This record gives sequence, structure tokens and C-alpha cells, in this order.
Amino acid sequence: MTGHDIHAYFEAHYPADQAFTWDHVGLQVGTLDRPIKKMMITLDVTLDTVKQAIEANADFILAHHPLMFHPVETLDTREIKGQIIEHLVMHKITVYAAHTNFDTGTPGMNGHLAEVIGLENPQVLNSHEEGLSIGRIGTITPTTIKAFADTLKPLFKTTHVGVITRRPLHTEIKKVAISGGAGSPDKEAAFAAGADLFLTGDITYHTALELLDMDLPAIDIGHFAEHVFKAYFVDVFNAHDCIVFASHETSPYQWV
Ligand SMILES: [Zn+2]
Repeated sequence: MTGHDIHAYFEAHYPADQAFTWDHVGLQVGTLDRPIKKMMITLDVTLDTVKQAIEANADFILAHHPLMFHPVETLDTREIKGQIIEHLVMHKITVYAAHTNFDTGTPGMNGHLAEVIGLENPQVLNSHEEGLSIGRIGTITPTTIKAFADTLKPLFKTTHVGVITRRPLHTEIKKVAISGGAGSPDKEAAFAAGADLFLTGDITYHTALELLDMDLPAIDIGHFAEHVFKAYFVDVFNAHDCIVFASHETSPYQWV
């Protein structure tokens, strides 16, 4: 298997033209030409995860979040980004990103998140201007906001979730919308679809105030919730003749 096989898989299942126009998906660093013997799946390409790849002798990194997002004008190896790229090039490690092309796909990131939280009959939550669909909405066995929040924590490896509502936490919920990552732009769609609860990550203070005024209960499950995608790609690519493993990542936040 070479990088071209990975690229062909994504073009068949999650093509680059299904990514938002502002995104940068596909080959990020290195080459698709070399054979892949060991591949690491990671949510983020950080100095830490790159060191894990080097230690494991990986030659290919499949990442969700693009490493190269803004144009690089100077490759200063005193800076973290410069150090990451220097390590990758020195160790001949290719980085390939599947970001919003995976978010908008089926099952894609949101299909997996919907499955993890046990959403029944999940439907697409929102269709954006570019004709790309994102998020899922479906039903759960009726429960309370508090009880549901408690079930989410182990699923997303977090000790805390931020609950945003003026309603009592014992309010019953059944219809749940989810949009992975920083999905706040999908809150209006969740409201319009009659969601009892909206889940996403990276909810800012001002967005939280808007959610309160909309009276749409929401839970900030953290951007790190997206790590659930890794197991899926470990399975997909393990079918091929290379070793595939997931990086060890934790949420950057500790709640003390
Ligand atoms: Zn994300």
C-alpha cells in the first residue's frame, strides 16, 4: 500500500470536493509515492503525536485536523510548527489530512459521533451553502439532561461537560442534535428541527448566551470528542498489508 491507495480510498468515500472551500485536505507533508509499512491515525498532528510516530517507526500519518492550514511563510524551527515539520521531513513521514471531507461524508465524523451517543434514526442536521451536509439529528431513549450528560463523559473521555440551559437539569430530552468539532453554526438548524438538546464542541461564551436566549439546551462535549473517529480508520486500513495504530491523545484541558 502506498499513499496513493489512501488517496484513492478517500476520493472514493470522502472526496476532497466534499470539503469546505476554506479547508486544506489531502497530502500535507511528504509524498504519496512511498510504500506504507506503518500508519498512525491521529486527531491532531502535534509535536507529541509526531514523536509517537517516530518512536513507532511510522511512515504515514492520517490526521483529521490539517497541520498546514494557513500559508507557511517562514519555516522557523525555533517555533513549534517548524519543529513538527522538521521532524516529519527528517524522518520521511507523510502527513495526509481528511478533515471536512470526512465531516460531511457518510458515515463520516458525524455518523460516528451519532453512533457513539446511540442516536436512533439519525438524519442530516444541516445543509450548508456549498451543498455540504453536516451533523446528525435523531432520538434517544427519553432521559434527563443531567443523566445524558453523565453518559457522555466516559464516551468522550472527559471528566466534565459544559451544560448550557436555564431549564432544570431534570428536564426530559428525546430529540438530540450533534455536530462534531466546533459546530456552533449548526445551532439554528438544531433549533429549527425541534431538538431538545444540541451537542457540539468549542462553544464560546457569546454563543452560550445566544443558546440561552434561543432556549436551546446545549452541551459542550469538547472538540476532543472527535477522537472517536480513530478506531474506525484503524479498522478500515488494517485490512491492508500495513500496521495501523491510533496515536495516544488526551484532551488538552484538565478540569481541576
Ligand atoms: Zn475538528
